[in-house]
Amino acid sequence: MNQVNQANQANQVNQVVPMRPVEDHLADILRTVRVLAPLELDLDQALGTTLAEDVTSPVPLPPFDNSAMDGYAVRAEDVGTAPVTLPVIDDVAAGDGRLHALGPGMAVRIMTGAPMPAGADAVVPVEWTDGGTARVTIGRPVTKGNAIRSAGEDVHSGDVVLPAGTAIGPAQLGILAGVGRRRVLVRPRPRVVVISTGAELAEPGSRLAPGQIWESNSYTLIGAVREAGGEGYRAGIVADDARSFIDQLDAQLVRADAIITSGGVSMGAYEPVKEALAPLGTVRFERVAMQPGMPQGFGVVGEDQVPIFTLPGNPVSSFVSFMLFVRPALRKMQGRPAEPTPTVPAVTGAPLRSPAGKRSYLRGVLGPGGVVTPVLRQGSHQLAALAAANALIVVPEDVTELPEGAAVEVIPL
Ligand code: AMP
Ligand code: MG
Repeated sequence: MNQVNQANQANQVNQVVPMRPVEDHLADILRTVRVLAPLELDLDQALGTTLAEDVTSPVPLPPFDNSAMDGYAVRAEDVGTAPVTLPVIDDVAAGDGRLHALGPGMAVRIMTGAPMPAGADAVVPVEWTDGGTARVTIGRPVTKGNAIRSAGEDVHSGDVVLPAGTAIGPAQLGILAGVGRRRVLVRPRPRVVVISTGAELAEPGSRLAPGQIWESNSYTLIGAVREAGGEGYRAGIVADDARSFIDQLDAQLVRADAIITSGGVSMGAYEPVKEALAPLGTVRFERVAMQPGMPQGFGVVGEDQVPIFTLPGNPVSSFVSFMLFVRPALRKMQGRPAEPTPTVPAVTGAPLRSPAGKRSYLRGVLGPGGVVTPVLRQGSHQLAALAAANALIVVPEDVTELPEGAAVEVIPL
């Protein structure tokens, strides 16, 4: 076949299979992945998970009127003519469960968090007094309700304090404990297995033989999985043959809510992931209109229809692909909104170039004032340059050049 014919054929192939927009590929993924079944966890295990129930309080918070300060519980009207001196009839500390009552013209010494004695309607801070224990001289009048935390002023009994779908961070753990919960129904962290393919890959920590490089994608991807709320498992390295890949995949499926592979999906020979999965018909391989990361695959495998993301092998490509496609899916699995990874507006600190027809995700450093400067090395293998960046600069498909100072969207890393 002559060269012209070959070129025509290649063009025809390109026309038949156009590149898919990033949004379409993501939409397929988000349509397919399911929210994980809820699980009851001890509070100790719940940080970073998502609530799968509306949590209500069985009591008002605070549960009883109590003092907001160390001082003296009084009737405000008794100290209206301050300075006055009152007898101190009792002491109430936090945790005191006795019933206290205060008659007219008396004071009770009270500590922060201690229940208000019946009959008292204000607390005089100790700083306004002589600090007496038998008698106290109060230097200034107080208003009714001063330094009292009223029952129910934070939460009413029966109130929903956290709705289902809430991400559990430190403060959310606090309110869960604060309403007496020990266990809580959550969406579990998705268990994500990462399989790296490549005959050239060697374990970090080992000596490199000629032609080898140290395997790095799984470390990046597992870190990214954790940051996205999942548990990552490294399945190690699989050489470039489809049989070994299938064996490893079968072995891993039992413990996975999702699988990520890296490498073996491009156009070359020895593409084990594509060779192994394409015949199943449940995984779709395609070219997505993006740079880096054009060759993508997604589908389901195994009896349980476990979602599988087959990411390209170049280190920057696999990480960018994770941010665009895997992260939103993991969030959906956790019961969070199914939406693209968010961007923030910025201004480019240097002119930008981008190929026509592809959305670029350039590595950049986002600095103060929202100025983002692209790093110098933008190759999809240049892992050190990725590590020096803290943002991906998004350049739309139809834009090939942007001047310094142009508005851009960035994905903070
Ligand atoms: P592939 O997608 O398998 O053709 O790989 C593309 C490029 O990424 C090649 O240069 C590979 O050596 C490199 N690569 C693939 N997998 C990894 C990995 N797990 N860690 C580091 N580099 C990788
Ligand atoms: Mg490879």
